[in-house]
Amino acid sequence: MKIKNAYFLKSCVSASHFPSYPFPEFAFLGRSNVGKSSLLNMILGQKDLVKTGARPGVTQAINFFIVNDNSSFVDLPGFGYAKVPADIRKKFTPLIKSYLEGRDNLKVAFLLIDIRRTPGDFEEDMLEFLEKNRIPVVITLTKCDKLSGNQRKKRIQEIIDALDIGRDSIFLTSCKTGEGKKEILSVVSDFIKQGGTKAESLDT
Ligand code: GDP
Repeated sequence: MKIKNAYFLKSCVSASHFPSYPFPEFAFLGRSNVGKSSLLNMILGQKDLVKTGARPGVTQAINFFIVNDNSSFVDLPGFGYAKVPADIRKKFTPLIKSYLEGRDNLKVAFLLIDIRRTPGDFEEDMLEFLEKNRIPVVITLTKCDKLSGNQRKKRIQEIIDALDIGRDSIFLTSCKTGEGKKEILSVVSDFIKQGGTKAESLDT
């Protein structure tokens, strides 16, 4: 799948503002600073479409991007930014929850984890929550260019053990080298071709 065009549609702070269209959606979520904006820009082939290094303030928003006029990439607010108030920092803000629980367009959630970090409560709880809601998940390791081959293998095994998942459900990515772009877009194009539904889950 090639990206022919991609544009920002809207930023939503409540579920009543989520866009209404027939497009399948692909959500990206993870801790602040995990590299989510950089990864989205790399995949979509535009340097500044998604603001990198943006510090989430008090307002947490979900950003929708239309891709190839037939699908949508959804940028969920980064979790756990230390400088936002504790009640906003807490897991599963109502906005994220309402999106993940109620969004029929959603086909796959890419849960981003920095390859150098051991997943913590946030990732474990999020994985459980996504599974409970029957949302297919792809664990997407970011910043893989920062580690050598052997270091990578070690980290991947630690992440597999921490999350109790299979090696096949992990993608390796880097915004510096473009690694992982093909794999992510192939998941997207499979869903577009199949017209897949939320219940037709990927193997995790
Ligand atoms: P976000 O808060 O999750 O949107 O994270 P950003 O995309 O703003 O990235 C946070 C920091 O990590 C920035 O300094 C990026 O340059 C850096 N970064 C993001 N992705 C990569 C990557 O794949 N490789 C390397 N080496 N650095 C990255």
